[in-house]
Amino acid sequence: MTTDRPAGTPGFATRAIHAGQEPDPTTGAVVPPIYATSTYAQDGVGGLRNGYEYSRSANPTRTALEECLAALEGGRHGFAFASGLAAEDTLIRSVCRPGDHLVIPHDAYGGTFRLFDKVHSQWGVTATPVDLTDLAAVERAIQPGRTRLLWIETPTNPLLAIADIAALAGLARRHGAVTAVDNTFASPYLQQPLALGADVALHSTTKYCGGHSDVVGGAIVVDDDVLADKVRFHQNAMGAVAGPFDAWLVLRGLKTLAVRMEQHSDNAQAVAEFLTGHPAVAETIYPGLPDHPGHELAARQMRRFGGMVSFRVAAGEQAAVDLCARTTVFTLGESLGGVESLIEHPGRMTHASVAGTALEVPADLVRLSVGIEDVNDLLEDLDQALREAGSGR
Ligand SMILES: *Cc1c(COP(=O)(O)O)cnc(C)c1O
Repeated sequence: MTTDRPAGTPGFATRAIHAGQEPDPTTGAVVPPIYATSTYAQDGVGGLRNGYEYSRSANPTRTALEECLAALEGGRHGFAFASGLAAEDTLIRSVCRPGDHLVIPHDAYGGTFRLFDKVHSQWGVTATPVDLTDLAAVERAIQPGRTRLLWIETPTNPLLAIADIAALAGLARRHGAVTAVDNTFASPYLQQPLALGADVALHSTTKYCGGHSDVVGGAIVVDDDVLADKVRFHQNAMGAVAGPFDAWLVLRGLKTLAVRMEQHSDNAQAVAEFLTGHPAVAETIYPGLPDHPGHELAARQMRRFGGMVSFRVAAGEQAAVDLCARTTVFTLGESLGGVESLIEHPGRMTHASVAGTALEVPADLVRLSVGIEDVNDLLEDLDQALREAGSGR
């Protein structure tokens, strides 16, 4: 459990609702306004009001979000970006130089793998995909003096493998590498990478932080001042910042993160238990199931097990593809982490870009983003969709 906090620090749900969100000093507005402005009047040359000069550098709505994200991840510095991949790109360029090397999960998010494999490789930054559940393999992949960054994703997408953040961060530190955790699947409510020893917590806020499938965004939280200065410089120099309306939407989403994650976890546990032993299902993958290889580790490092469930369809690839088109409460679509349930076929959708690589996923795999609808409706929907999958069509 990662619920510990220093005495006097407000609890998670209180921080989500109040951190960075004092009532507006001029009007008393309880909700931070959307500051739709590119520039700010100065009181004489260089006379900035509260440090605001130009909205790429800083915008008050974005500041509110950045302070809230930092408070939720337990770091001193938060940064909001136009997307999760923009956050990743900014972090890599803040930390790595040509000739540097990264260790990345062998089942990393497909877009993350593509960023390393197709973009940063062209600037001489190389990455080795490794199974992060195998600490000895991670140690072997580290190139002394060259490996600058250890990239962790846990739980992974879509196979929901669990990596030991504390052990991996310790290993990276001994080799002088920075540890970054893509905390998108867990959200800061379920998992606190910085408290476990990581240097960076990173998010696609498009997913659980935003939580309503209405915005694309990204975030970085760090505690170290020197690393924060590098990220702040690159955020402004590269310019992939969150706009004020997008920042406001993510901030609004964060207010209910705690209650949403509890409900996502309740519903996902019920869905996973329903799928387990269903004759049309060959394997159910959910860290909350006792037979998941990462179950005990997840129970230690996460508050609960989250809203993502994957399963393999016994009748094979075509049955898995057909099943995805038969659900009516689960919407067929990419992305995850919203209040509504989604279903997808990773092999042909989110993970099509990694076909033929080390990151290829099983063809009979179906991924669910379990939403917060009434759980009986979700179970009935899966039941009717699976009934046909089991009929040997
Ligand atoms: C979606 C996602 C990303 C990329 O974020 P975007 O907001 O789509 O750019 C990165 N990591 C994980 C785990 C994701 O699910």
